[in-house]
Amino acid sequence: RPFLADPLFVQKAAAGKADEINTCIGCNQACLDHTFAGKVTSCLVNPRACHETLINITPAPSRERIAVVGAGPAGLSFATTAAQRGFDVTLFDAATEIGGQFNIAKQVPGKEEFFETLRYFGKQIELTGVTLQLKTKVGVIASRPNRVSIPHAEHEPCGADFSPPWSTEVDPTTSRVSIEELVSRGFKQVVLATGVTPRTPPIEGIGHAKVLSYLDVLRDKKPVGKTVALIGAGGIGFDTAEYLLHEGTSPSLDKAKFFAEWGVDTSYAERGGLTPAHIDKSPRKIYLLQRKTGKVGDGLGKTTGWIHRTSLKNRHVEMLAGVTYRRIDDAGLHITVNGEERTLVVDNVVICAGQEPQRELQAELQAAGLQVHLIGGADEAAELDAKRAIKQGLELAVALAAAPKAADAPASAACVTIAAGSIQKNGTTPFETLTVSLVDHIATIRLNRPDKANAMNLAMWHEICQAFQWVDATPGARVAILEGEGKLFTSGIDLQMMMGMGDQIQNDCEARTRENLRQVILDLQDTLTSLERCRKPVLAAIHGACIGGGIDLICCADMRYCSADASFCIKEIDIGMTADVGTLQRLPKLIGEGMARELAYTARKFDASEALQMKLVNRVFDTREALLKGVREIATTIAAKSPLSIRGVKEMISYARDHTVADGLNYVATWNAAMLLSNDLQEAMMANMGKRPPEFKD
Ligand SMILES: Cc1cc2nc3c(=O)[nH]c(=O)nc-3n(C[C@H](O)[C@H](O)[C@H](O)COP(=O)(O)OP(=O)(O)OC[C@H]3O[C@@H](n4cnc5c(N)ncnc54)[C@H](O)[C@@H]3O)c2cc1C
Ligand code: SF4
Repeated sequence: RPFLADPLFVQKAAAGKADEINTCIGCNQACLDHTFAGKVTSCLVNPRACHETLINITPAPSRERIAVVGAGPAGLSFATTAAQRGFDVTLFDAATEIGGQFNIAKQVPGKEEFFETLRYFGKQIELTGVTLQLKTKVGVIASRPNRVSIPHAEHEPCGADFSPPWSTEVDPTTSRVSIEELVSRGFKQVVLATGVTPRTPPIEGIGHAKVLSYLDVLRDKKPVGKTVALIGAGGIGFDTAEYLLHEGTSPSLDKAKFFAEWGVDTSYAERGGLTPAHIDKSPRKIYLLQRKTGKVGDGLGKTTGWIHRTSLKNRHVEMLAGVTYRRIDDAGLHITVNGEERTLVVDNVVICAGQEPQRELQAELQAAGLQVHLIGGADEAAELDAKRAIKQGLELAVALAAAPKAADAPASAACVTIAAGSIQKNGTTPFETLTVSLVDHIATIRLNRPDKANAMNLAMWHEICQAFQWVDATPGARVAILEGEGKLFTSGIDLQMMMGMGDQIQNDCEARTRENLRQVILDLQDTLTSLERCRKPVLAAIHGACIGGGIDLICCADMRYCSADASFCIKEIDIGMTADVGTLQRLPKLIGEGMARELAYTARKFDASEALQMKLVNRVFDTREALLKGVREIATTIAAKSPLSIRGVKEMISYARDHTVADGLNYVATWNAAMLLSNDLQEAMMANMGKRPPEFKD
């Protein structure tokens, strides 16, 4: 389990970096519980475990500022991963420490190790450069109405009190950050990881002084009497019972106490190493109640539920299922169970009856024009646990600013037409500078700023990257065509964008300004590299002029085709700069070093026939229409081949460009040892024998 939690455990320990180790907290929730349920094993604190090839942490498309509200498990997981990718993340929490409900969970005997997860995330915040603002509440929220209406309650006498007695107030010394301030600080996306609030069940007398919430008990340490009824027998109900049944040192921190409680004979004198268990006298009489019929604690983990149930049984907790709550008053809690009315004479009633999402900020943030993402309890409180919260945080962080996830894409694109412009980035806004379509397994990415000569502005750089990530992740897209709208392919980088860059990189410190500029250049390079990273072949169809940044762009495509009117120019030298996003590195490999040098030193314009002669393009078509038709035919041929093998071919040719022949041969041997025996191989042979076209899966 420790290696599921952190595969780098040994390296970190050897390097003296124990504080960076992600520690297994012994929960069994994603490892053994998954195994026994026939699910893929993973880890609560490390959802990438056994999913390493599916959840990839890639560089962010830009250093955009992201605000995260809530430093519970979901917010921590998101913030540290997003910062690791290169986003500029600020994490706000109203509390004085990170951790959210994990700070409450770690109070429970047996869950002390939950602290380790917070220690790990604390270190990650430091290492990834997340800006942490504690004691800072975001937004001014009108307090949640405490009165709850229960129109159908059976026992509601006139004027009955249904207001819970617990407080939801925040420390008055906490600072506030308004939504306007978030906007003025340049945040465009906000991740709401604000967690949950305890649910108040509509029971008559819920406002009685003897009623407490689990937060009053576990977090605020309010005094609790000798007899207690717990309403709700989920994980938190069991934990609250466990907490109330122990006094002094927790057995999980005191070996002798633990062995005595579980009857472990450490002297090996007894048969099987077992002795009669010695249970300390319970300080309280506890009733644990649930509305559902069936076994109490049935929903607990497969491999840990029995421990919790045994522990409570050993301490004579009375567990009742199928309970109807009638009212709470000075006499105690009045219930009906198995058709019988009972009054549990208790000092306190503790409510552990589920939770509700806390996301009041969402509407206000959206009204201010901010893009809002919900994760953890803020997204869905039902069946919430830290496993889901941490996984959701990670998944959002790796997908942020990416085009739609693979799961959103059509399973097969044959006959599915997505109208140009209708593919959404992050599920909400259409691309501003591109039109994207997917027809018959062919994705078409069209540069779409015809009134600006398709000049590549900041939005276009980001969107090109997103579009090719989308092609890569969409199973139905087997091949992509890159083309331009209007009179020409592209006039290259938008000079206005370059001039506006000064403000973006400015810093009081000269070195930091330079570092910022370096980062911007690397980000732009990364955008173009997204064409090479995309596992599907990319065909560039060039008409009219293709200038400056346009050459950098087409050099990343797998193949280039043009119409007879096309012209090309490596323009950078004429604006007094060295081309820096790929032409000088890739073009010599395509057309030879001598010619690449001539064109880059002189900025000489060259035409379609010369481009063909120097093998920059594979073919010249007479007209733009013929170009688009011809390129589509080539794409159609590729789309009909085995997608798995086509992806292998791209990988191998790209690899061979940057490695020796020996390295390439070695790589393809390993690759095919893994991929050769595929369904595609079988299908190709069967189709050949049956004299029919093969049908491959995406
Ligand atoms: C006693 C107990 C035991 C548990 N045991 C387990 C267990 O064994 N296994 C398990 O998987 N899960 C367990 N859980 C549940 C787990 O802790 C939660 O599922 C998890 O913490 C949810 O994470 P979250 O990030 O969505 O929200 P939270 O942990 O609730 O964090 C939300 C954070 O947002 C902050 N916040 C809210 N509003 C604002 C605002 N406007 N401005 C700034 N900050 C704000 C809050 O201060 C808080 O820190 C337990 C919970 C409890 C209470
Ligand atoms: S799921 Fe829990 S017990 Fe299993 S390896 Fe991860 S932290 Fe450890």
